Amino acid sequence: MSTFQAPKGTYDLIPPDSATYLAVRDAIAAPLRTSGYGYIETPGFEDVNLFARGVGESTDIVTKEMYTLTTKGGSELALRPEGTASVLRAALEANLHKAGNLPVKLWYSGSYYRYERPQKGRYRHFSQVGAEAIGTEDPALDAELIILADQAYRSLGLARFRILLNSLGDKECRPVYREALQAFLRDLDLDEETRRRIEINPLRVLDDKRAEVQKQLTGAPLLRDFLCDACKAYHEEVRELLTEAGVVYEDDEKLVRGLDYYTRTTFEFVHDGLGSQSAVGGGGRYDGLSEMIGGPALPSVGWALGVDRTVLALEAEGIGLDVPAPTSVYAVPLGEEARRVLFGLVTELRKAGVATDFAFGGRGLKGAMKSANRSGARYTVVAGERDLAEGGVQLKDMESGEQEAVALGDLVAVVQARLA
Ligand code: ATP
Ligand code: MG
Repeated sequence: MSTFQAPKGTYDLIPPDSATYLAVRDAIAAPLRTSGYGYIETPGFEDVNLFARGVGESTDIVTKEMYTLTTKGGSELALRPEGTASVLRAALEANLHKAGNLPVKLWYSGSYYRYERPQKGRYRHFSQVGAEAIGTEDPALDAELIILADQAYRSLGLARFRILLNSLGDKECRPVYREALQAFLRDLDLDEETRRRIEINPLRVLDDKRAEVQKQLTGAPLLRDFLCDACKAYHEEVRELLTEAGVVYEDDEKLVRGLDYYTRTTFEFVHDGLGSQSAVGGGGRYDGLSEMIGGPALPSVGWALGVDRTVLALEAEGIGLDVPAPTSVYAVPLGEEARRVLFGLVTELRKAGVATDFAFGGRGLKGAMKSANRSGARYTVVAGERDLAEGGVQLKDMESGEQEAVALGDLVAVVQARLA
């Protein structure tokens, strides 16, 4: 224990558990990498106004959850609370949309920051893997992204997740619905803050988690009944494509999601083993976002999946990922000469692609063998003066306990053959 601890609402990823996090990130990214999505990395902070405009002035993220800072030079920045606005900003800045190859398909993985009330599954620093497909309006693209997320979760062995699906309409039909909803909401018994929200972003009121609010919302007009023909047809096609792909989803007319910029397709992945922090990921179409941040019209769709909550979902389902032992061979030298020879062999084994570690610190055989055990290595290579005098080392199979002498020059090939 030192004087310091991880800041409130954060935790450290430590071996061996951290291997699971890496495996989850990889599993979520894998289907994207083989579906035309290129990797993008953006800074951990941006101009605060990018999020204010891009995420929306009326969202909890912007009003309550952003970490903002003023630099010594006077710039107003915010630690990124989400990925979409940054990725779109970067794509516009690099003119990716002008390269004539739409949609621009990108994936990302990284840390995000929100000043929230910490609890299980809700942290102030968390990780997401996300994907964005920029510049194309095509129901197949919306379907593709949902299918890829579904595939990622299935590849992890998760079964108790559900996909909630809705359409939020477009700039033609959503305003009509918005007015009808406002008229309904204004008659309810609501607190000041919520009343203000009715005027700025009434759809968000539907998302209110409080039971006393939800009770009053029965009978609220549903967006489904206001969708224009184009939005209806678009949504129907997304649904059909998902069904044809064998992806099971639930229609959820009340799903609005926290961000202002969504249009048409919206979806959320929820897991039933996570209690109140049940959303493991979400996304949707955001046709208006580019214009909101000063770019051209670029209809786009994307999602972000939470790595932390996905790991909790694995735990809830009792799934242990098959992460390979980080070390295959552990080298234990006995004496100074053996130290030099084995250290050289370790480098050779590593160059040959064998995960190898070494007993550092010149401990005795007993302590070194304990470390070898703890490393999970399948083989140990032990050598003392007598072995070296005979031009070999002892190769011990840690599973069977069998040990044999192997000539120095043969070791790499023998180990590779045994591990294959
Ligand atoms: P919630 O409704 O639980 O606050 P959200 O709608 O704010 O979630 P998104 O902005 O859609 O979440 O982010 C996508 C995913 O990122 C979430 O589904 C979740 O897995 C993860 N996530 C969001 N906020 C946090 C957090 N504070 N701690 C851990 N994971 C988070
Ligand atoms: Mg949130």
